[in-house]
Formats: sequence, structure tokens, C-alpha cells
Amino acid sequence: MLKFYNTLTRKKQLFKPIKDRKVLMYSCGPTAYNYVHIGNLRAYIFVDILKRYLQYSGYSVKHVMNITDVDDKTIRDSRKAGKSLKEFTKFYEKEFVSDLRSMNIEMPDVMPRATDYIFEMVKIIKRLETKGLAYRSDGSIYFKISKSKNYGQLAGLEKRTLRENASGRLSIDDEYKKEDINDFVLWKEWRPEDGDVYWDTEIGRGRPGWHIECSAMSIKNLGETFDIHCGGEDLIFPHHTNEIAQSEGVTGKKFVNYWLHNAHLLVDGQKMSKSLGNFYTLKDVIKKGYNPLFLKIILIKTHYRHILDFNFNNFIEVKSIAEKLINFLFNLDLIENNGKNKVDIDKLIGNCEKEFRKAMDDDLNISEALAKIFNFINEVNKSIDSINFQQAGKIRKFILKIDGVLGFIEKIYDNYLIKLGNKIKDTGVGELLKKREEARGSGDYRESDILRDKIQSLGFLLEDTKSGSVLKLKE
Ligand SMILES: [Zn+2]
Repeated sequence: MLKFYNTLTRKKQLFKPIKDRKVLMYSCGPTAYNYVHIGNLRAYIFVDILKRYLQYSGYSVKHVMNITDVDDKTIRDSRKAGKSLKEFTKFYEKEFVSDLRSMNIEMPDVMPRATDYIFEMVKIIKRLETKGLAYRSDGSIYFKISKSKNYGQLAGLEKRTLRENASGRLSIDDEYKKEDINDFVLWKEWRPEDGDVYWDTEIGRGRPGWHIECSAMSIKNLGETFDIHCGGEDLIFPHHTNEIAQSEGVTGKKFVNYWLHNAHLLVDGQKMSKSLGNFYTLKDVIKKGYNPLFLKIILIKTHYRHILDFNFNNFIEVKSIAEKLINFLFNLDLIENNGKNKVDIDKLIGNCEKEFRKAMDDDLNISEALAKIFNFINEVNKSIDSINFQQAGKIRKFILKIDGVLGFIEKIYDNYLIKLGNKIKDTGVGELLKKREEARGSGDYRESDILRDKIQSLGFLLEDTKSGSVLKLKE
């Protein structure tokens, strides 16, 4: 029984999609004006786990994630860089996609760019005007929140408390003339600082506001009502609150059934900021010599609704987790057809899968789910000498199935095998290994020990098993 915490109702609810086994899901993507930071990455990784777990549970998922390629920041910074808006945003969009790939995040099914949806946005704005939910002032068009039913429900805000919440948050919009401080802009009339960024449309020359972009892209790709909308908790107000007001205002239907938000990320207990020098992108992490997949484990390990306090020491713990997984799969690969069959592997796998599912069904309780997987690994390790070839295959298949949700185990293991293979080739250790086998065979243990030291000094670990010597990487 899959349950999610729904920000809209403030409780855990049984998940029931509109269409039987198909889930329609939208998540807010990046604004293409800079590299994304590790706090943003946490949000994309949360969406990835959510989507993968839905697939694991037998749903097919249509996932849409937008690229905001026109807004105040993209215009400001593209002009500063002396580049066209398109050239500027394309660069950061490509960098973003490359970050997703480095972290083995599944690509969305549709990744719409805001600038390709101007027509849809204009259509929505016109309908909002007709319905009396939008008004013009000085050439720009605003959404009139006093006419909106249930405005602020997602954020748990009463209309009277909105004024305080809005102050300081809507500073850019404040320069425009609005009837109410909480009214937000749908269409911004062209101003000289926008340069060549404008569209000539039925509602005038200008460009869309940020919130209308997500309404237009989600409705066009997923329909007027869809199942899940996610994003970081900082988007609840005003972004998602305004998305609901516009979308429900124009369609008269419920916009989204389940709203899922991930908590934010701190670095060493502090909010990440450039001025504090604790602001990190994936590039920074890689430059420091860390594996992006290890960062992925750090970002996954804490439940998505809990604040994550990131620290570079986290990598020490994660490295040992990765080593445990690598050793486990490596040892499984070494098991030969030995005819042993003392352990009830089917039962172990069955139990673990049940426990994994139970934890994940409970609003993606990942720490519990991971604990169950590591319990399983410990159990198997205890009786690894009594496991046969077919059983090892079943265990491997099970771990890979779980990795369909986690998305880091197989990649980490593959990278390890590639590194090991390259090192064996580059060092020419094979020759030494052969000589040592010969020395061992002829009982020359002095020579065999000398060769072992030589092999280990090249950066390998040498393990003697019943069926021969095995090389591993010494890290
Ligand atoms: Zn959005």
C-alpha cells in the first residue's frame, strides 16, 4: 500500500493515480542561468527515486521536467555575458543534463523549454482575463488573487497572513504596479533592460512570468489534472501556490492530486551561500576528487522530508558503504559451481524484498529500506561459503532489481571492474601473478612471498582462494 505525504492535505495518503497503472508526474526543473548546486541535485535525486520506485511498483510513469530558459535571471546574466538568451541558456541546459547523467538519474520523458510554450501561456492568460482573474496595469498582466478560491491552501496560508509572507519575496514584481502586493505577474511588458528578449503576441510585446511557465508546460504535456507534482520545499510559496491558482482558475478543475516536496540541504549546519564559501556544484565535488555516485548516496540516505546536513566527511562513511557493495558483488562473481545448497536463498530474498517494499511504501522511507538491504547482505556474507552458483545468480539479480530503484550499485561496481581491468593491463601484473602461481605450485614459498609483495606494491590486494589467486584494488 503505497503512501505519500501530501503537502496539500498535510497527511500521508494512500496513492491512487487517475489512470489505473499510469502515473502522470511533473517536477520543476532548473533555471538555465548557472550550474545547479548540490541542494538542487538533492531535489532531482528525490524525483528520480520516486519515479524509479513507482516503476518498480508496476506503474508506468510519464515524467515531465521543465527548463526555465526565460526569466529575470536568464535575461540579466545572458546580457552580462554578452550572449543571446538562447546561446546562454543552452549552455547551462547541457551542463545540467550532463550532471544528471553523472549521477545516473533517469532522463525525464519530456523536458520542455519555456520559450517553446509562449503560445500556450498566452492562451491561458487570455482565458484568465476573460474570467476576471487577471488584470492589466501599465502593459503588464497580473493574477488577481482576491478572486481565487482557496488561494494559499498548499502553503497553509490564510489570505490575511499572505501580506507578511509575501514581503521580501516578490521584490522584482514590486517594481510593477499591482492592485495587491500578493498579485503576481503573468505577463511582463517589454522594458529596455530586456533587450531583444520579447515576444509579440495578442496580449502585447513582452515575456511570461515564471509561474505561468510551469502551468502551461504541465497542462500541455500531462493534461488539466495530473497525479504528482514535486519540487523543493522552497517552491511551495509562491511558485507552486501560484501555479495552482492559475491552473485551477483557467480549467475550473483540480490541478494536482499529490504534492511532494523535499526538504532543503545545509552545509556544515549552515545555509549554502556563495558569500560563506560553502556553495558547491557537482563540478566542485568532482574537482575535490569525489565520485558523483558517492554524492548520490549521501543525498539519498536522508529521508527526503528531513533536512540534510551535508559535510565532506560524509564521503568517508559512503566510501565504506561502496566498498561493502563492491566486495559483495565481487565475491558473488567468484562463486563457482560447487553443488552446495545449504542456505534457503529464496526465503532470504523474499523476506528482504517484502521489507524493502514495506519501507519504501511508507512515503519512501529510504533509510529503513537501505538498512534492510544491508541486513540481507550481512546474512548472505555469513554463509557465502555455502552458496552455489545458481544461488549467487539469484542474489545478483535481486540486488540489481533493487538497484533499479537506487540507481548506484551496478554503476559503482562496473566502474570498479573497469578500473581494476585497466590497472591490470597498465601494470602488467598478470605476468607476476603467473610466476607466483608457478612458485606456489612448486612449493617455493619464499619466492611466492616476494612476488606477493611486488604485486601488492603495484596497488593490488591479493587474495588466495581455493580456486586460485584473485586480484582486487587496494584503495
Ligand atoms: Zn515550476
